[in-house]
Amino acid sequence: YNINACLVKLGKVGLFGRAVTRAEGGDILRVRPGGPCYACLTGNPIYHQNDEITDVRRARELGVIPAYVSDEDAHAMVQVGLSTDIAPINNMMVKLALNELSRGIECGISSLIEELTYDYYIWANRRDFQFANWAPFNRNPNRHLTILRWYGVKLKKDSECLECR
Ligand SMILES: [Zn+2]
Repeated sequence: YNINACLVKLGKVGLFGRAVTRAEGGDILRVRPGGPCYACLTGNPIYHQNDEITDVRRARELGVIPAYVSDEDAHAMVQVGLSTDIAPINNMMVKLALNELSRGIECGISSLIEELTYDYYIWANRRDFQFANWAPFNRNPNRHLTILRWYGVKLKKDSECLECR
């Protein structure tokens, strides 16, 4: 929130990225001058569907760790492929950062300026937990959200945001 306050005050661009719930997915917010800020996003329900798991108690509250799993077993959870689940989020953050840094400069990624226009980006690695209702990657007849694809969202500024209104 301190970084967000500085971005808003100084009119700077910033990126906030995270992996959620054992990296079952992740999201990125790009804050640009005049646009929605981090506080606008955290006041938006879309953000809280991916609440960060910081401890066993919170994981149990969110149902990520079922009641029948002992505390000992909860701490021993295997995180198969964790780095490969985090990498897409890192890569997208780097791409967005390069996009912002090269804005106004003719270069090899200039065309992305016209495409990466969203404020918020979301990615799912697996059809687990909050992404369980997303369509299978290989069967998507109705164009539902699927895993392993980036989705962009245009956010509105929160008219009651205490940081950027
Ligand atoms: Zn705001």
